[in-house]
Amino acid sequence: MKLYKIYGVALTVFAVFSLSSHVYHLKKEKELNQIIEKQQKKIAQLEEEKSSLIASIEKLANQKISSAKKRYQRKNVSYHKRYISRKIPYGLPLKGVITSKFGYRPDPFTGVIKFHSGIDIKATYKQPVRATADGIVKFSGWKRGYGKVVIIKHKNGYETWYAHLSYKRVGKNQPVRAGQIIGYAGRTGRTTGVHLHYEIRKNGKPVNPLRYIYVKAKYTQEKKK
Ligand SMILES: [Zn+2]
Repeated sequence: MKLYKIYGVALTVFAVFSLSSHVYHLKKEKELNQIIEKQQKKIAQLEEEKSSLIASIEKLANQKISSAKKRYQRKNVSYHKRYISRKIPYGLPLKGVITSKFGYRPDPFTGVIKFHSGIDIKATYKQPVRATADGIVKFSGWKRGYGKVVIIKHKNGYETWYAHLSYKRVGKNQPVRAGQIIGYAGRTGRTTGVHLHYEIRKNGKPVNPLRYIYVKAKYTQEKKK
């Protein structure tokens, strides 16, 4: 009888113990599952963050590349511009409408077809006239037909002529820079109105200044892009 009791108690204790251990294990498993779930969620979140980070890094890199490209292009254009503006005449000596082109045309006074060795640019009286390249003043004075004229000697056999000026601002042998004001527009010499007669000569021969204006227009367009 006593032995039975002891056996019964022992069985009960064992049963309770094994049940509780089973419950404990179940609980642990549930906890572990929860932890796994949590970690998986975290991983997913991190993955999302990673892809968004990669995207922003790519975006930034692209921005850097495009701005570097732009900088390079700007540098390149300004290099060309500087090179051309400094050494070779380019652009217009003043802002204005071109009223007469280079080449054969009827003389404005006689109507006889004559060679026009430059271009005429409509100007307002005393409008500043600027050198179109670096150089040295070869002549500053009066020439028949041209009136008050400034002639600048440049590198590579180039010369630029600025005629019908009202005032000259530079003297012979004076070095000038591209863009520097060398005189003011007027109507001295043989002219029908206030305008600038602009000439480019290469090795003593007049060339079409419009060709040198086109260079400027081309580079200005490239800059705008
Ligand atoms: Zn002219």
